[in-house]
Amino acid sequence: MNWYKHNVLRRTLTVMMAVLMTIVFFSENVVIYAQPGSELVIDHEVSMRDLDERLGREPLSDETSPRVGSTSTVKKVGNLLDMTANTLNVKYDVTAIFADGKPVVYCRNKAEAEGVLWLLKRSYQVVGADIQSISFLEDVTIGDSKIEIANFGGFKTTKEMVSYIQHGGVEPKYYTVKEGDTIVGITEAHQMTMEELFVANPGMQTRKYLTVGQQVNVAIPRPLINVQTVENISYNETVDFEVIEEGTDTMFEGEKEVRIIGKKGKQTVAAQIHCINGVERDREILSETITEEPIAAVWRVGTKVAPPKKGTGVFDYPAEKYIVTSRFGVWRGRRRHTGIDLAMPIGTPVKAADGGVVLFAGNRTSYGRIVIIDHGARMSSFYAHCSELLVKPGDKVFKGQRIALSGNTGRSTGPHLHFEVRMDDVPLNPANYLEFN
Ligand SMILES: [Zn+2]
Repeated sequence: MNWYKHNVLRRTLTVMMAVLMTIVFFSENVVIYAQPGSELVIDHEVSMRDLDERLGREPLSDETSPRVGSTSTVKKVGNLLDMTANTLNVKYDVTAIFADGKPVVYCRNKAEAEGVLWLLKRSYQVVGADIQSISFLEDVTIGDSKIEIANFGGFKTTKEMVSYIQHGGVEPKYYTVKEGDTIVGITEAHQMTMEELFVANPGMQTRKYLTVGQQVNVAIPRPLINVQTVENISYNETVDFEVIEEGTDTMFEGEKEVRIIGKKGKQTVAAQIHCINGVERDREILSETITEEPIAAVWRVGTKVAPPKKGTGVFDYPAEKYIVTSRFGVWRGRRRHTGIDLAMPIGTPVKAADGGVVLFAGNRTSYGRIVIIDHGARMSSFYAHCSELLVKPGDKVFKGQRIALSGNTGRSTGPHLHFEVRMDDVPLNPANYLEFN
């Protein structure tokens, strides 16, 4: 409280101070009361106006103009305050927004504080949303407070105050989205939760995707006031169809055949969503109205007990119905035919001739789509020109299991299955193992 050390004041006031314990200082028409060793007491409304001038802002209207004396001398009072503010513990009366009793931001007056809270609530309203309620999670009040001018940076604008409340004063930190980035990847790299990322980036939750070059704020926000919104929404979605399974002993367990293809239905959903700071936390379904009924699928599923998934040493036919169109060993140009050709319509189930492990399932130029099964005991079998493969390399298969659907891929002159039996990778006549009619 060594305010009297200040040169200007010392020159003016030393004599008076020596005489009086209380100094009454008249600066033209504005009165300032000062007591040595005590806080400088300044008329509230004068100080408000002066503060505005100090901060280079438009003074507020008549409501805050000085009550005492004339307004023409405010500039001088301002100068005096500039001189004294940093040496005296001058406190100003302001309006503050409190969250759970703690001041969050300081405003010029109550109307401005109300404006800040209004804008804060409004910033989380989605355009076109049917808002049911907007409230604060904290106990938010507007009330009187005092600030020390020496430590006060100045009033923020309404927008700045709202942003400060939303981010807790945390400066945004931007990350530029690169090719292959995901929302989960970004949150992991910056040690933030998905919710924090969504709060820091309004609108991101509903968009759900990223674009290369997009600027993402990865600074974790610390909202000083949390806004809870409840809104009603309505949207269309698909309805899953039911699957009816019909058992059949013509197929092994684990095998299935689609008899009727199911079709998804459509419905309109009315829901109430609860958001905090614009991020959805809870969704309550109010009603579901079917607009298009789903059609149930019917599957035939095998009930026959499957044999063990290993070679038995005895082969079985790779298909149920076929016509032999080319036998083993016939000349094909300069080469002999390495298997037997069994003509059948495209899509006919192809079965493993014996149990074993799938060695290969994929494309081989002249064979087209092919499955090769290792049966152990140096034996293997080939199923070529398929349209669809139902197994993958490494799969264990049992004798009779559907491994592919027949086709006409690769070097093939019509829909058929090219079947080979090999020992030590040397093609043998399949007719030695099975009787092909
Ligand atoms: Zn062939």
